[in-house]
Amino acid sequence: MTDDFAALLERGRTGDKRAVARLISLIEQGGETARSVLTQLWPHTGRARIFGITGPPGAGKSTLTNALTKCWRAKGLRVGIIAVDPTSPFTGGAILGDRVRMGDLTLDTGVFIRSMGTRGQLGGLSPATAGAVHALDACGYDLILLETVGVGQSEVAVMEIADLVLVLNVPGLGDDVQAIKAGILEIGDLFAVNKADRPGADRTANELRAMLELGEEKRPLPVLLVSASQGTGVTELCEELERQYLLLNGNGELARRRALRLRSELLTLVREGIEQRLLRPLLDSPMFAQSLERFQSRTESPYRWAEEFVTQISGGGPGYELHKS
Ligand code: GDP
Repeated sequence: MTDDFAALLERGRTGDKRAVARLISLIEQGGETARSVLTQLWPHTGRARIFGITGPPGAGKSTLTNALTKCWRAKGLRVGIIAVDPTSPFTGGAILGDRVRMGDLTLDTGVFIRSMGTRGQLGGLSPATAGAVHALDACGYDLILLETVGVGQSEVAVMEIADLVLVLNVPGLGDDVQAIKAGILEIGDLFAVNKADRPGADRTANELRAMLELGEEKRPLPVLLVSASQGTGVTELCEELERQYLLLNGNGELARRRALRLRSELLTLVREGIEQRLLRPLLDSPMFAQSLERFQSRTESPYRWAEEFVTQISGGGPGYELHKS
């Protein structure tokens, strides 16, 4: 079993895209298989640069991702793309999405593209997304592009996985940049106004700059004009992304983000275990149903009950502090 994973990883590292796809599928399956695969991948991770690209639907994220990919391919870098697609939470949609997106990158052995659904309606990344990034990283992809629609929770979640985030906007989404929510401004390390071939792009960029100046950032964040479909400004954007990455690397911010990311990934793992082993059996128990009835009839308070429950499962000791997490 273990040797099979090692062989897959070896094949993935030499650019065998079917092996990479298989590794990601095994991770998506979850359970012990995913744990074994991820454990084997782990020592080989931590090398890739991970860029998040987010923006409203139709802003040109896919088109730009393709254009940027070509730019990096010209430099000989291998590129992995994960398109987080909240409109297709099912594998069927995701597979179709891959075909549509691949376009002329399909035949390029140095590019791997995968669509992944989100966790439910509100967005948020599916639990396997971080694992898929690790798989691409371990397989030697130099750059990993995480593309997501800037709605719901997924753009915030992308920020937690990416080293840096590019926020894309377009002219003509109404008379303002308000289409970009304040929240999305906060997660950007750099901004681009796509469809610069259309009227109003300059104005949109200026409005964006003005909004960013009101923010709390100490350094001015770059706002670039680009036309993904025409190819103008793409090289500059590609270089600016690299420049920002080096900046973050140089000032310690990258290391800080990566440490935070590890911490949050570990917490997610531990929480999942606690949820499965301790909480779920409790929720399913008759004892819990009976307690609920007592809370409902006000013969007992849930506050004491919760405290006693936690004391019990943690093997005694003092009660936990309410509302102090
Ligand atoms: P996404 O939903 O953000 O991934 O957007 P897409 O990449 O699918 O692009 C949405 C539409 O905008 C497509 O019809 C693209 O051809 C078009 N588009 C993308 N980039 C540009 C651009 O720079 N200029 C113009 N005029 N259209 C573009």
